[in-house]
Amino acid sequence: MKCKFCERKAFIKLHYPRMYLCEKHFMEYFERKVKRTIERYKLLRPDERVLVVVSGGKDSAVTAYVLKKLGYRIECLHINLGIGEYSEKSEAYAVRQCKKLGVPLHIVRIKELFGKGIGEVRTRRPICSYCGLTKRYIFNKFAYDNGFDAVATGHNLDDEASFIFSSIMHWNTQYLAKQGPILPGEGKFVKKVKPLYELTEREVVAYALASGIEYHIEECPHARGATTLEYKEILNMMEEKRPGTKINFVKGYLRKKKLFKIELEEIELGECRVCGMPAQGEKCSFCSFWGLEQALNFKIK
Ligand code: SF4
Ligand code: ZN
Ligand code: ZN
Repeated sequence: MKCKFCERKAFIKLHYPRMYLCEKHFMEYFERKVKRTIERYKLLRPDERVLVVVSGGKDSAVTAYVLKKLGYRIECLHINLGIGEYSEKSEAYAVRQCKKLGVPLHIVRIKELFGKGIGEVRTRRPICSYCGLTKRYIFNKFAYDNGFDAVATGHNLDDEASFIFSSIMHWNTQYLAKQGPILPGEGKFVKKVKPLYELTEREVVAYALASGIEYHIEECPHARGATTLEYKEILNMMEEKRPGTKINFVKGYLRKKKLFKIELEEIELGECRVCGMPAQGEKCSFCSFWGLEQALNFKIK
């Protein structure tokens, strides 16, 4: 098949909107879509300093690549989770990706901070729960300590659709009240944005291939059996039968999101006595989970 816009051979068949595109026109389509997402949801201003959290995987690498191409001032942060060989490989990919892009990369290693990696802590808390808490705290604190205006993550349409789907299945109305492509900054919480919000995983993989981005394909060993993967499978089956299912589901949610607003508890946040970041009790959940008595400072020297 030929590209819809030129004589070249098709590189990809898009299902929604239905069309065949060559490599060049697919890349243009993809970048245009990221640009439109940024404009439509007012994610970033051109002068903002953006910290992209790169895991070594495809989504964050593509996020960094496209933001740089669109002219944003980006730097990257990799959090090495200390999950054996998986984390070693992830870091190596992040290093290579940033080198190729020519952007500064900062690395924070959990094992160096706490002497233990994710999965090595004796706790009743599920691994992914404290891993998520740790990552969120570190990228926010890192951005805050270094004066970044925004943190960009690589969440794509499939991630968002499956997360909303799972939140509905569990009637987690607290989550449903605040998901979306942007979480505005407030006080010591730096703004969080998701530039790939409207692009499918399949499109992200194709873009990485077209632009020669190498990435870590392996899943985290702790992700096995995660229910979000099952939700993704179900959504993929539906998308196959009815192209557009995912984007219409997510856009419909954004239109109806205000229905869940009432569920947002107005929690009075104080300051963590250790690190000074927002906290519900006297210590924030990060400092109390890791048993910290001294704040971590991520200021770049
Ligand atoms: Fe962390 Fe791995 Fe769980 Fe993801 S799957 S939250 S990286 S432990
Ligand atoms: Zn073309
Ligand atoms: Zn704290």
